[in-house]
Amino acid sequence: MSALVIANWKMNGALSAVEVFAETWGSVVIPNDVQIVICPPYVYLSAVREAMPREVQLGAQDCAGHKAGAFTGEVAADMLVESGCAWVIVGHSERRQYHAETDELVAQKAQLAQEAGLCAVVCVGEQLGQREAGEHQQVVAAQLAGSLDGVDLKNLVVAYEPVWAIGTGHSASPQQAEDMHRWIKDCLMKHYGADAQQIPVIYGGSVKPETAAELFACETIDGALVGGASLEATSFAEIAQAGASGRN
Ligand code: PEP
Repeated sequence: MSALVIANWKMNGALSAVEVFAETWGSVVIPNDVQIVICPPYVYLSAVREAMPREVQLGAQDCAGHKAGAFTGEVAADMLVESGCAWVIVGHSERRQYHAETDELVAQKAQLAQEAGLCAVVCVGEQLGQREAGEHQQVVAAQLAGSLDGVDLKNLVVAYEPVWAIGTGHSASPQQAEDMHRWIKDCLMKHYGADAQQIPVIYGGSVKPETAAELFACETIDGALVGGASLEATSFAEIAQAGASGRN
């Protein structure tokens, strides 16, 4: 399985920043055996599509939980496909926290994304208090059960993103990530059966160029979801390069 490295730009950037990113990207060498996806804000999708080389795939950070209709401000999965997206992140902890998204809604979004032909990147992860209380496995198992209800195992990626590691500079240790990825893969096997082996499980939470290699070296880590360090082309490229060599 080639490593999957996804950039989540969140609500950052500007048209000028897309140009700078693409220009710098043009001078880096990314091995073929790593899959790169960039998820900019919706309004920059077309700019990223035009500025970046074809092998860099396009994704969105969210989609609507409805197919179409009177849902002001929402963007449907079908519209993302029309905009050139092949991927969409759903259930990011910031959506769960600031927009009160439930597992049920996340499952609905993932289903609609798959029906539209997108690959759904379903995020799960425990909060600090839950980890300190030793509840992380149970919390993540419950999120998986709810967020994957009715979701196909094809065109599915699971992102393990401990909330305490996102944007804090404190990545999970390779051992912590490895243990949780193993647990998630076991949960997926229970949910989908043996075919669940094909579902990539990627890690997100303060991945940096300096920490990427040791994370990618873990057998159960199939890639990374990168926030802050993906805003700058050089650091994102270094993470992608680590993704390629880590799988060898
Ligand atoms: C994220 O938001 O998905 C993320 C992993 O952010 P960061 O890399 O900044 O922790």
